[in-house]
Amino acid sequence: MKRRTFIQNASLTGIGVVAGASALSCKEEVTVTENIPATTGGITLPVVVATWNVHDATAKAWDVLQQGKSSLDAIEAGCMVEEANAEGQSVGLGGLPDRDGNVTLDACIMNRDGNYGAVVYLQNIKHPISVARKVMEDTPHVILAGKGAEQFALESGFEPEDLLTEASRKAWEKWKETSEYKPVINIENHDTIGMLAIDSNGDIAGGCTTSGLAYKMAGRVGDSPIIGSGLFIDNEVGGATATGLGEEVLKTVGSFLIVELMRQGKSPQEACEEAIGRIVAKNDSIKDFQVGYIAVNKHGETGSYSIHEGFWVTKYQNDKNENNPSDFYNKKP
Ligand code: ASP
Repeated sequence: MKRRTFIQNASLTGIGVVAGASALSCKEEVTVTENIPATTGGITLPVVVATWNVHDATAKAWDVLQQGKSSLDAIEAGCMVEEANAEGQSVGLGGLPDRDGNVTLDACIMNRDGNYGAVVYLQNIKHPISVARKVMEDTPHVILAGKGAEQFALESGFEPEDLLTEASRKAWEKWKETSEYKPVINIENHDTIGMLAIDSNGDIAGGCTTSGLAYKMAGRVGDSPIIGSGLFIDNEVGGATATGLGEEVLKTVGSFLIVELMRQGKSPQEACEEAIGRIVAKNDSIKDFQVGYIAVNKHGETGSYSIHEGFWVTKYQNDKNENNPSDFYNKKP
């Protein structure tokens, strides 16, 4: 209770949640997470939920789930949509580069059996989520980094591609005009994806893919590809994934924490709030960075929480009564 009061005093607010197919053009359409009760009685499977306003990606994952395919297939297909979107500057093609002008990508994927694959500091390959899946399925390892990851991707049939778009190159050139080294974490209008899905069999999978902190130091790796930090799945309990300043998520092993809190009986919402509270409690100033979490438990209940307002969550889940994903949770705050 005390922690919660502290969080509120530190101006933490609920995260916007938008469901399904409705257009997201203004913030008035969001619902604060408090409006998602732990049990609604109307929750059904499958479900897919993703960080930020990533409708096309979430819709793709939903389609895959509707075809009766696995949550793992849905996660990969959904994340690939955002990776291929050149307009998005926090993931895949068009991602903002490091301070030397190199686009470097981090991604991971985790399946219902607790298997995990990741790539870190991968360059020139548009779909790190798929390479991560191949690491998981085709190698005895869990993480491949840098040149080795790229070589593995090329040997696996991925095409090399220059991922620095004209728009991202221009943004980088502009950033270089300042002499100050201050890497930027997007607080709003973000597209780094953490995605969680449960298929009709009740099996959970998750993925996370990003180009990381814009204008970071060469070699920097964030939370997104690191098991337990950017993503964690336990098919007995649920899953969680993160977005925002990876250093803070890494230091608190946020996604694993959330899943363990759910194992101890907390709802996804309560667990996300507790994990954000841990970060807030360790930082004198939270004004310059954002962290947001989403979580789902084995029953398909979801939760989400962030340090600051402006975090969006996109979710598809049928309402038991209306069978209409676009209506679910789509209320004004
Ligand atoms: N968490 C990612 C990182 O720190 C960035 C993000 O979510 O925007 O690399």
